[in-house]
Amino acid sequence: MSQVSRNLAAIKSTLPLGVELVAVSKFHPVEALREAYDAGQRLFGESRVQELVEKIPLMPDDTCWHFIGHLQTNKLKQLIGRVSLIESVDSIRLLDMIDSLSAERGVVSRVLMQVHVAAEETKFGFLPDELVAWFASRGFESLKATHICGIMGMATNTDDSERIAADFRLIADTRRRILDAAPDLRGFDILSMGMSDDYPLAVAAGSNLVRVGTAIFGPRQY
Ligand SMILES: *Cc1c(COP(=O)(O)O)cnc(C)c1O
Repeated sequence: MSQVSRNLAAIKSTLPLGVELVAVSKFHPVEALREAYDAGQRLFGESRVQELVEKIPLMPDDTCWHFIGHLQTNKLKQLIGRVSLIESVDSIRLLDMIDSLSAERGVVSRVLMQVHVAAEETKFGFLPDELVAWFASRGFESLKATHICGIMGMATNTDDSERIAADFRLIADTRRRILDAAPDLRGFDILSMGMSDDYPLAVAAGSNLVRVGTAIFGPRQY
């Protein structure tokens, strides 16, 4: 058994039924992804478009990809139609561009809206109130080829587990507030939160999609 498959088995044994695992493979060579694939992992997360499109043809056809990084609009053309979920929609302008490009290509894009609750300025995303207001004003109704499947968020990068848990509760609460504001939303089911250091806290707060890299593949070589 490879280290990667041992890590995967250890993580999966802690995840409750109904929580999906994205193996975050950014900066790792395709050999590492193959090890995970051979251990049964089919869902991978990448954060750079260039790296993703290089890896796609090198992996078996039934590999599923999530895009999880900040998305520059000039890279969209390479991405649309190639991933099963874009987890990191952080502006309405980006959402509109995803939608028009998807419509143009005759595909439906599945996306998550990224919520910003962490203390760091460097993280992208909508503030909770801003996102709830957008759903309340029914901005999603004009989408033609995009399905918003839920939200994604990250906790503050800290050792303070109280703070991390509070951040996750705030993200989970944002999803509930959105559903209250737009009760007819359908398929708004995904709550993506939790990384290597904090996924147990995220799952405790209701996450059903965790994005784990380092704990599977080891440290990244930047
Ligand atoms: C890199 C990354 C992860 C995985 O981080 P690890 O700490 O290596 O598990 C998860 N989510 C996002 C958005 C990332 O960019």
